[in-house]
Amino acid sequence: MTIPRLTSRDIRSDSRLDVLHAILSAGEVTRNERAQVTGLSAATVATVVGELIAEGIVLETKVTVGRVGRPTATLGMNADRGRVVGVDVAETYVRAALFDTALNQLEFLEVERDEHILDPEVMTEAVGDILDRMLEQQRLAREAVLGIGVTLPGLVQGPAGLSVFVPNLAWRSEDLDRLRERVGMPLVIDNPLKAIGTAEMWLGRGRYCSSLVTVNLGTGVGAAIALDARLVRGATNSAGEWGHTLLVLDGRECRCGRRGCVEAYVGVPGIVETLREIAPDHPLTSIDLQRDFILAMAQAVDRAEPDEAVHATIDRTAYYLGSALADLVAVVNPEVITLTGWTTWALGTSLLPAVRRHVREQAPGTSADGLELELSTVKGNSVTTGVATIALERSLADAGLITRRTAITL
Ligand SMILES: [Zn+2]
Repeated sequence: MTIPRLTSRDIRSDSRLDVLHAILSAGEVTRNERAQVTGLSAATVATVVGELIAEGIVLETKVTVGRVGRPTATLGMNADRGRVVGVDVAETYVRAALFDTALNQLEFLEVERDEHILDPEVMTEAVGDILDRMLEQQRLAREAVLGIGVTLPGLVQGPAGLSVFVPNLAWRSEDLDRLRERVGMPLVIDNPLKAIGTAEMWLGRGRYCSSLVTVNLGTGVGAAIALDARLVRGATNSAGEWGHTLLVLDGRECRCGRRGCVEAYVGVPGIVETLREIAPDHPLTSIDLQRDFILAMAQAVDRAEPDEAVHATIDRTAYYLGSALADLVAVVNPEVITLTGWTTWALGTSLLPAVRRHVREQAPGTSADGLELELSTVKGNSVTTGVATIALERSLADAGLITRRTAITL
């Protein structure tokens, strides 16, 4: 797949996307407010809004007459244009969420997985099953769904098409074809990081800034980078694989085959390893499943009698994370960093103060002085929300309203 150059049509499409983002993020707004938020001229906004209304994507929800001047129409997303689904396939679970076209979540399902079984065939069945169940519960026909987005860990896009690169989890193009057949509706697949970044830009802190990094903390760790309010994908959709940048030269073995990666210290198996280094016989180190380990850590932090080894592990993890984020600040210099992912939901508030301190101490010069480092405000599972948003973008692209470069096409 080649990435097309921008044409004047693309610039119009970009304006539509900007206006859509603004309408979606603000709930209901007037055209005038749109012009202010997007930085587009009032005339451009009027044209774009007219097109979006004509396509049934945006609705005039009410008309109010102000004290002075013309009546003002309030705009909102048309929630009933159709439905979109987002599915997050992770090592430890499969999650699926159904949304209307204003990205209100209508249903959420989760199936826990055995993290030791990573076979593409098993995962494809898991996606198919959870989708079938969701459609059945909602009494929805497949035709009522505009599209489905599925995230697979480690997805990259190369000259030969899509492939998924995670050791022990190799998806070939036949596997992806089988997934498309199994879901039986327009499909986009993407890397979870790109989904997280998209959710943050449409629904989170990314609505109010133009440079943003969202860091996902779970089994693996990674960063979604947005610059000038656009998600950075890179040549092979691998931008943001910050989890595989170097934290310790010749350090711990990483599952990517390299030594000393950030992920080997800040990913959940890395946190287990840190605890093991601090207290080799600590009972938490023998917990088999990663989710149980992280929840046990969170409970241990909250317990009245302090568990020294757990607190030392939190401190050390905050040090690793803060140091690695300082590198990210050195390269990207974002206005905002948000943290998300299931480690964040369990341990984020314990980690945050020390992480902030380490970032400020280690980022070069004054680059982190104005930096906001916060937990993400995107509700629910930002991967399912984000990949459903990418599916919605794709359906808008299919309608000729925006360009396809926002989504990977199969
Ligand atoms: Zn690595």
